[in-house]
Amino acid sequence: MFHGSPIHRRRFVAGASGMMMAGAFGTATRAGQSADPARLAIHDGSKAVQQPVRRAPRWGEPERERLEAMLGQGSLFYWNGPQTKLLIERFRTFCPLEYVQTCSSGTAAIHIAVAAAGIELGDEVITSPVTDIGTVIGVLYQGGVPVFADVGAGQCNLDVEDVRRRITPKTKAIIPVHLTGNPCDMDAIMALAEEHDLVVIEDCCQAWGARSRGRPIGTVGHFACFSLQNSKHVTCGDGGVVATSHPAYGPLLQRFGDKGAARGVTREGGGFRAFATNYRMSEPQAAVVAGQLTRLEEIAAARARLGNLLTEQIRDIPGIMPHDVHPDDRAVYWFYMFRIDPEAFRINRDDFARTLRAEGAPAAGGYIGVPLYGEPVFRNHGFFAGRWPVKEFGLTEMNFAKHSCPEAEAILRTCIRITIHEGMTDEYILDVAKAIRKVAAHFAV
Ligand SMILES: *Cc1c(COP(=O)(O)O)cnc(C)c1O
Repeated sequence: MFHGSPIHRRRFVAGASGMMMAGAFGTATRAGQSADPARLAIHDGSKAVQQPVRRAPRWGEPERERLEAMLGQGSLFYWNGPQTKLLIERFRTFCPLEYVQTCSSGTAAIHIAVAAAGIELGDEVITSPVTDIGTVIGVLYQGGVPVFADVGAGQCNLDVEDVRRRITPKTKAIIPVHLTGNPCDMDAIMALAEEHDLVVIEDCCQAWGARSRGRPIGTVGHFACFSLQNSKHVTCGDGGVVATSHPAYGPLLQRFGDKGAARGVTREGGGFRAFATNYRMSEPQAAVVAGQLTRLEEIAAARARLGNLLTEQIRDIPGIMPHDVHPDDRAVYWFYMFRIDPEAFRINRDDFARTLRAEGAPAAGGYIGVPLYGEPVFRNHGFFAGRWPVKEFGLTEMNFAKHSCPEAEAILRTCIRITIHEGMTDEYILDVAKAIRKVAAHFAV
């Protein structure tokens, strides 16, 4: 960590000083002027963010109540389990979909949706390269081919025109990822999908409680997939939910999440009709999630307010590109992300983030290291024991080593993440905005 360590601080200043004009440092390094609010914390000025943040405990009574009830049960299996039933009932209050299947992760939720959508060997599925690898794991396991389309400059969500350019006769589905909880342009995506008869699987893993033009996230596409992993808005440590209202897909959710099962349905001649793995969620997890869902609206509302406030405060700073959210959408900020224009500042992105951290702001450079296609497993096409049968059988000519999404690459080079959570106050966010303004002003070209 950079902040607090004089050794690191000197090394940083020495490293950056070649790019800095003496005048810019003149006042900052003169002794006895600590009252100057413009003096950076890395130059012994006072930090822009002084107040501590307290994140309230994430679980307590609502979860305890559910776990107590669960301990009185004779079975902890999900099927007909009261905790799972309550989870589904509460899930539907903000994502009103007909068929809901709980599962073990967001990755599992997407895998189930991909399988239920009927993705076959060599079928292409277009998605964003700036996402968790869980978005495409299921595509690859079903023998499909992820095709990465570029993202928009300010939003980091699928650029629908680039999706259009990448559609081929093999394209079967689109997975829009609502990155950071900022909804994709679902109307444009659905129009394109209808034109080409494509299935739309919404990756809502970072978007609990978000709304797209007033509609609950996940209710516009054919499938909604959510993660309950520990870092997400609501959690049981690890878990997921996949849902749909389409009668053709609905019954398949259980098939592909529960070893081919069709529980509660009269046996149709017996035998396994679908080959699938076991992605079930047990009652103890469901109990925690049922409790967590009572907190969701408050969590989503707080994050939406705080993130939008930060945007309002920093949008006029030259060289800073804040989160781009459609005014009729509700973004729920799993984290906040802004970009810097590298030409506008005398320091690079990582040093900008470090300087912000020294100011007390919860900042970090970047999101994932490289777009997914840049990861070794993609570049080597080494998905199954180091090989990729779909390619070896001639069912795809995909070469991830030659894939390119310039805007996605630029975003990952220039973005800075700011932690947002429901324990933060408006005053705290105002101070974070001050820190960004202070650092930007100091290093402006
Ligand atoms: C977290 C996440 C996933 C995967 O969820 P897991 O529960 O970790 O498997 C998929 N997509 C996105 C966008 C995510 O943030």
